[in-house]
Amino acid sequence: MKLLRWGERGREKPGVLDAAGGLRDLSAVVPDITGSTLAELREFDAIERLPRVPGEPRIGACVGGIGKFICIGLNYADHAAETGQPIPTEPVVFFKATSAVTGPNDDLVLPPGSQKVDWEVELGVVIGRHVVGADEHTARAAIAGYCVINDLSERAWQLERGGQWVKGKSADGFGPIGPWLVTADNVPDPAALRLWLEIDGRRFQDSSTAQMVFKPAYLVSYLSQFMSLQPGDVISTGTPPGVGLGQKPPVYLRAGQQIRLGIEGLGEQTQRVVASR
Ligand code: ZN
Repeated sequence: MKLLRWGERGREKPGVLDAAGGLRDLSAVVPDITGSTLAELREFDAIERLPRVPGEPRIGACVGGIGKFICIGLNYADHAAETGQPIPTEPVVFFKATSAVTGPNDDLVLPPGSQKVDWEVELGVVIGRHVVGADEHTARAAIAGYCVINDLSERAWQLERGGQWVKGKSADGFGPIGPWLVTADNVPDPAALRLWLEIDGRRFQDSSTAQMVFKPAYLVSYLSQFMSLQPGDVISTGTPPGVGLGQKPPVYLRAGQQIRLGIEGLGEQTQRVVASR
């Protein structure tokens, strides 16, 4: 299934795509697509009986009420090289504030005082079951599905202001998630998906999740050794080469530009970059 959330920000309703790609309203089945309703939807198979949603509503983040937004850094060997860092021997784990979460096509408002806002297309993993201390097999079964994430950053705040990366990763709007949560049964191999990102039509990132150092099930197992994961937690699994910081000289986002990104089978996002307001 391709699950999504549609409607005004903060008042999104649950939806699902039908076989023809049309949007259907899931409101009569679950109140929202969140950690607590993902399990109920696992067996749902009456999509064609749901009412159609007219028009083209705004699309929200594909999962609501996210408890943890965990990110993995330097998880593509060639991206690590691009940033001048060694390939990590263990996953590099950091957090992004959940207040950064936004819809896949919402405007990216540059945060006041920002100068080095950068892009990162990433495969998102959505947890579907409580998991702790899990082996890889159990971890794989705990994955509800996958989605597209743009892990936006303010590089000066991330790298030039001391402390942890979280400061540069957490501004409002720095976490577009969606359009769809594609359930795991529809993603036979999450480590074989093409992913790409363009700014104003110029392709900066173009790779495959096959290049990941640590694959999704391993990451879930690894994280579960240190903390329990709950349904609705999201893990952003790292980005391939081609970020703005890696350009020579570096390039960063400016108001008026348009970002497009996508992952094979998981849909596309488009964000217009607008000045601080
Ligand atoms: Zn990232």
